[in-house]
Amino acid sequence: MKDNNSDLLQFNTKGIYCPQADVYIDPWKPVGKAIITHGHSDHSRSGSKSYICTHQSVPILQHRLGGDINVKGIDYGRSFTVNGVNFSLHPAGHIIGSAQVRVEYKGEVWVASGDYKTQDDGVSTPFTPVKCHTFITESTFGLPLFNWAPITDTIDQINTWWQECKEANRPAILTTYSLGKAQNILHSIDRSIGEVFGHGAINKMNDALIAAGLFDVSTAEVDTTRKNYDGCLILTPMSGLNSKWSSRFKGASTASASGWMSLRGARRRRGVDRGFVLSDHADWNGLNLAIKATGAERVIVTHGYQALFSKWLKSQGYQTQTQKTMYEGEALETEAVSKEE
Ligand SMILES: [Zn+2]
Ligand SMILES: [Zn+2]
Repeated sequence: MKDNNSDLLQFNTKGIYCPQADVYIDPWKPVGKAIITHGHSDHSRSGSKSYICTHQSVPILQHRLGGDINVKGIDYGRSFTVNGVNFSLHPAGHIIGSAQVRVEYKGEVWVASGDYKTQDDGVSTPFTPVKCHTFITESTFGLPLFNWAPITDTIDQINTWWQECKEANRPAILTTYSLGKAQNILHSIDRSIGEVFGHGAINKMNDALIAAGLFDVSTAEVDTTRKNYDGCLILTPMSGLNSKWSSRFKGASTASASGWMSLRGARRRRGVDRGFVLSDHADWNGLNLAIKATGAERVIVTHGYQALFSKWLKSQGYQTQTQKTMYEGEALETEAVSKEE
């Protein structure tokens, strides 16, 4: 194991730090210069002096952190240099605009992946592996029991449930995160089944993405005077589910779309009628294939099942270490938006 003090990227109390460039990746405290992998609130926090992210992430950061932030967008694959360190952003397939950060200095290459998904959701720029010596990976679903079916299978299940609700004259309420899965679902569901409405948090995020030319499916605002939503699909963050807002949807069937739905009891714990396994993170195979494709000899495992996943990687011949961060997994990303709205 190398001496951590000489590492190109280091973990300190503010985030992932590149001392040579004096740049942070996804800092959880305010810093001078921040490179942001994607717009989820645990990875893009307010208060830093300047932000660099993909062009696609710029409107998301402005929507989340305010229009007055100092942010610069760059193209995927285009490199820039800070004090001799070469940086570039590469598709992570996680949500619109999400990127892995490649960092190169004197021939040594590190990649910080943020959050990623190897399945193509039809909305995010698909994940591309980047060769490196050291790879920093998340491990949200780093256990063999997490195995995603093709996204189209899950969408078919959602369509079938929605159709059943329509035939039973019930509204269909689906809880999902406002940035990421909401767009994946809206992009792929069968809109011929009925009308689609969104919670304010989802509508506002969609409007920001549509205004920036990054997405093309809008969700309707719920009309307070309307009495009947039978057969309609309503998307909401978890926080909207047991609220005054949702009490108007009389007799609704409720469902959740999350990677956690592959765990026994998860649906019941969330108090919903149906669970659909849909995630914007990689499953077990996705993580393993992505790591292998980097050709890295050293892997640093962050948020998720760090200890178990790191132990597994060690048994596969990788040099590994676990690293505590302030990043949250999929369930907590849902909670984070609950607090915002
Ligand atoms: Zn994320
Ligand atoms: Zn994350």
